[in-house]
Amino acid sequence: MVLYLDTAAKQIRAEQILTFTNPSADTIWTMPFHMYYNAFKNNKSTFMTGAGRIPRNKPIDDVLACDWGWIELNSVRDAKGNELDVVYIQPDDDNTNDHSVAQVQLKTPVLPYQKYVLQMKWQSKIPKLMIRTGYSKNFYFMAQWYPKLGVYEPAGTRFATKGQWNCHQYHSATEYYGEFGVYKITMHVPKTYQVGASGFLLNRVNEGDMVAHTYLAEDVIDFTWTACPDFIELVETWHNIELKLLIMPEHVCNKERFLQATKNTLQFYENYLEPYPYPSLTIVSPPYYGLMAGAMEYPTLITAPTLCALPKGIKTTETLTIHELTHQYFMQMLATNEQEEPWMDEGFTAFFEAKILDRYYPEGTISWPYMGLRIGSEELRRGRFLNADNIKVNPMSDFGWHFKHGSYSEIVYGKGAVFLRTLEGLVGEKTMQKIMQTYFKRWKFKHPGRQNFIDVVNEIVPKEHGNGFGKDVNRLLEQAILGTETCDYAVHAIETHQVPNKLGFFESTNNCKSDTTKSEIYHSKVIVFRLGELVVPQEVLITFDNGQTKLEKWDGKARSTEFVYNEPQRVISAHLDPMQKISLDTNLINNSYAVHPNKVGIWRYVSAFVMWLQTCMLALSTLV
Ligand SMILES: [Zn+2]
Repeated sequence: MVLYLDTAAKQIRAEQILTFTNPSADTIWTMPFHMYYNAFKNNKSTFMTGAGRIPRNKPIDDVLACDWGWIELNSVRDAKGNELDVVYIQPDDDNTNDHSVAQVQLKTPVLPYQKYVLQMKWQSKIPKLMIRTGYSKNFYFMAQWYPKLGVYEPAGTRFATKGQWNCHQYHSATEYYGEFGVYKITMHVPKTYQVGASGFLLNRVNEGDMVAHTYLAEDVIDFTWTACPDFIELVETWHNIELKLLIMPEHVCNKERFLQATKNTLQFYENYLEPYPYPSLTIVSPPYYGLMAGAMEYPTLITAPTLCALPKGIKTTETLTIHELTHQYFMQMLATNEQEEPWMDEGFTAFFEAKILDRYYPEGTISWPYMGLRIGSEELRRGRFLNADNIKVNPMSDFGWHFKHGSYSEIVYGKGAVFLRTLEGLVGEKTMQKIMQTYFKRWKFKHPGRQNFIDVVNEIVPKEHGNGFGKDVNRLLEQAILGTETCDYAVHAIETHQVPNKLGFFESTNNCKSDTTKSEIYHSKVIVFRLGELVVPQEVLITFDNGQTKLEKWDGKARSTEFVYNEPQRVISAHLDPMQKISLDTNLINNSYAVHPNKVGIWRYVSAFVMWLQTCMLALSTLV
């Protein structure tokens, strides 16, 4: 593709040659394209009117000045030079005001496994930066900005029972889905601008007032770029990867925080899954007037806002860098469908974000040593989940735009992460790593769906644990992924009394036992309830008054169970899930019960709980 950026008119003119390889035995007659700048074309687009967590307001001055963003195909030709018809389609909602998907009608079909070439000319008006993409003053952030071909899913891929295009309209609730390809793009940009992009710089040619920057990005699902005259470019090499930080002068103070968090994350994945395979990674820290460009992830390019004024104890810079970089493995290399199964990207990413933060920043995501405050990333995730207005509003497996009544982030990010943490708690860290490695190595570059992950779990867990879990893990997977049931187990009561001696007649009526002193044996009973619908195997730590402990196991299936002891010592406390494996449990306060409550302990619990609720308010960004 060759494009010209007109910074005066805020427009792009471009020509692109697209080569598509049919991955199937099907004969294909149409090709759909994402035309996502048309989400900003009018106030009736699906993006502007649909359910979503993103505020979409347009200043009245822009409305009166007709300052809308759009993209138009001026010409689409096949290899024979035939001009092809293009129509807008609305596969999701029949909203004819929505022009975010254009379908090209072919004159000759794409034959099975064959290549097909289209030559396209197009033009766009860049929207004012409202959400993720556009311009703000002299800062350009170009995401979802070009006609992007949909994904052709052959029969058997994800939910496809027959070969089909997967090309959804632009919904404000969801992110994206794209096919792997090679992008070679030459951007003609005014010479005062610094440019950053997916892939790596092939060459830069001066052309009077303009500079032509040519980038190559291989095996990626999308291409994103940015331009701003004020960027400072800092480059470092780490393990043969070129790390490029594009940062505003007022944020340079945080450059080490970005670079260290980047190296920690890359090191983590090198050990945990496999090394980052691309030659470059660009980190864009937007100006304060470009904050709406996010915290977002794009192939080999991430954005992470920062603020020098943030105290050291608040790890927002690190959290965002780790989160967006983690997406490279899930959004980009596995390339799950973020529109249809957003939890498979954001839930996995939030799970690993917490893991990496807790490993490299053990002092906590938010720490304030003078007040004894320490909040780990995991607590933030749990807090985010439990803070949902309705944690049953949708199963986390739903399409992104089906979350009509809120709780998208809480379920997709929060429940997704908390569910994976629970799975890890049950099967252990070593088995979890095997699951993740197998899933990643088997499915990278192939767009897995949830069933592919479920199959890997059901394959690896019996290998590692024999039949120890029976069908329990599969039941948990199905309930947690497809259902809306919640998990809550509680220690209901501890009953304990000294066993009386035998009184009355036993062996014969000649020998009455009447010694009313108590025996030295205590009868103790611990009653445990399953209050939620979700079934999770449980452990209960029983503590006796001589300090002895006993770890009991329960399959968690019945609505209640009891543990009974007749011992010289009595039970003084019971603690469900003492190792805190089951993050999905919505109420941790009822997990412990003490006969003589240790008030200090309980208050610590209460304050921890209040802390979650408070920190939920610190939801880092709606865009991550
Ligand atoms: Zn994210």
